[in-house]
Amino acid sequence: MNEPRLQAPTRRAFLRLVGGGVALLPVAGLVACSGDKPAPAPAAPAPEPAPAPAEPAAAVPEAPAATANIQLVPLEESDPAAVALGYRHDAAQVDTAKHPRFSAGQNCANCVQFRGQPGEAWAGCNLFPGRAVNAAGWCNGYAPKA
Ligand code: SF4
Repeated sequence: MNEPRLQAPTRRAFLRLVGGGVALLPVAGLVACSGDKPAPAPAAPAPEPAPAPAEPAAAVPEAPAATANIQLVPLEESDPAAVALGYRHDAAQVDTAKHPRFSAGQNCANCVQFRGQPGEAWAGCNLFPGRAVNAAGWCNGYAPKA
């Protein structure tokens, strides 16, 4: 009797066997890992941390309600700003050589920058914030009221 002869696998048969296994391996791995369950959804992004509570706003000093309420300090003739503009309490004292713009009759009371009412001896001037000027005074910033 002839016994069945075992044949050694041919190279082609071996590659078919291995190649098929390799080709099936990823699919088999996916099936094995999935456990027949649907793939999990991608993780949701982590929620952003809540913003830090805002610091309380710094107290803002209130602006004065009206400039009329501001206490004005009389402007000194020696104040650097007054010197720069040649301010004098009395327009008659103006050095006309230094300030040829001056002409008789000009004074703070009839200057457009004067903030006082008619008859006020001292009042604010737009050119000297926080200071009061003399109604009879004058400086090189003089401009006649319309
Ligand atoms: S700007 Fe006018 S109101 Fe002010 S100091 Fe000069 S002259 Fe007087």
